Amino acid sequence: MIIHLPKNMSCTQVQELANNIGALCLEQAEQFVLITNHMTKQLPTDLKDIALQHWIFDSDMQLSSRQYLAETHRITLGDIYIGGDRKNQLMIAGPCAVESREQIEQSCQMLQQQGIRVLRAGCYKPRTSPYTFRGLGEDGLKLLAEMRDKYGVLIATEMRDATHADKVIEYADIIQIGAKSMYDHGLLAAAGKSGKPVILKRGFGTTLQEFVNCADFIMSCGNDQVILCERGIRSFETNTRFTLDLCGVAWLKEHCNLPIIIDPSHAMGYAYGIGDLARACTAMGVDGLLIETHPNPTCAQSDSAQQLDHQQFVHMYASLQPIANAIGKKLV
Ligand code: PEP
Ligand code: MN
Repeated sequence: MIIHLPKNMSCTQVQELANNIGALCLEQAEQFVLITNHMTKQLPTDLKDIALQHWIFDSDMQLSSRQYLAETHRITLGDIYIGGDRKNQLMIAGPCAVESREQIEQSCQMLQQQGIRVLRAGCYKPRTSPYTFRGLGEDGLKLLAEMRDKYGVLIATEMRDATHADKVIEYADIIQIGAKSMYDHGLLAAAGKSGKPVILKRGFGTTLQEFVNCADFIMSCGNDQVILCERGIRSFETNTRFTLDLCGVAWLKEHCNLPIIIDPSHAMGYAYGIGDLARACTAMGVDGLLIETHPNPTCAQSDSAQQLDHQQFVHMYASLQPIANAIGKKLV
């Protein structure tokens, strides 16, 4: 249950009431917000005369549910936004990993020519094999910070584990929590306390309910700047890397009040499918796309097969414009 209490109460008074009913307490500009789990079906008697409003839920998707807030949260990213009136579709692009100054600089030049504002590249890569490239670490973060200064791009980069959480929070404009780390509650809490926008990627074996519960974890730490990212789930199929769950995206659009972006690159696993998927996702009216592109994919140190070269990327991006126009969206 979510309960709103008036701001004319004292913090200690509210905290005491929260403790009595085992609730989490958030202080917001307009009200105090108490949150218990969804098993609470009746407003506790102590609160009957003071609660401004309360909501009863069927599951612990509470802060992130449309039942609580019908409008999609508006996420501010520099001078652009996604969510809110949902008029914008954001393009987030860049190589899988920061590999060198030359590579990341070439990526920024292409993004700048295309008017793309968010560069995404990893410095701490979660890899399937311990014998492969794991990212440049803090040196990579420093390169990204230089690129932000030089090209005015916003930096999205992954926070993989607790060893570097503080560093990523310090350098990133947008924190990515990846598919393999999304159950790490230490990371969810750190992202929640950071106050920065967070891209939460769905694990490949994660149900929609578990996914939105993780979003609620971040939000329950006081950060509502959460962007959900569908990136493919594991199915019986092995010819593609994962299976892009567009039914899941439709479910999230209906039930969840957070913007949703789609990463077709990791879902498909091969460059040849990305254009078709990006167009399909655009037609679906999502809030953004995350697409991997590398100046020279054949030499990429991670996810080589799925990254578009710059020519393929530019071609794909141009093909989204008429589809976005047709459904009344602006590419940002
Ligand atoms: C990535 O975004 O580069 C990545 C590792 O993706 P995921 O977390 O979806 O596997
Ligand atoms: Mn990748």
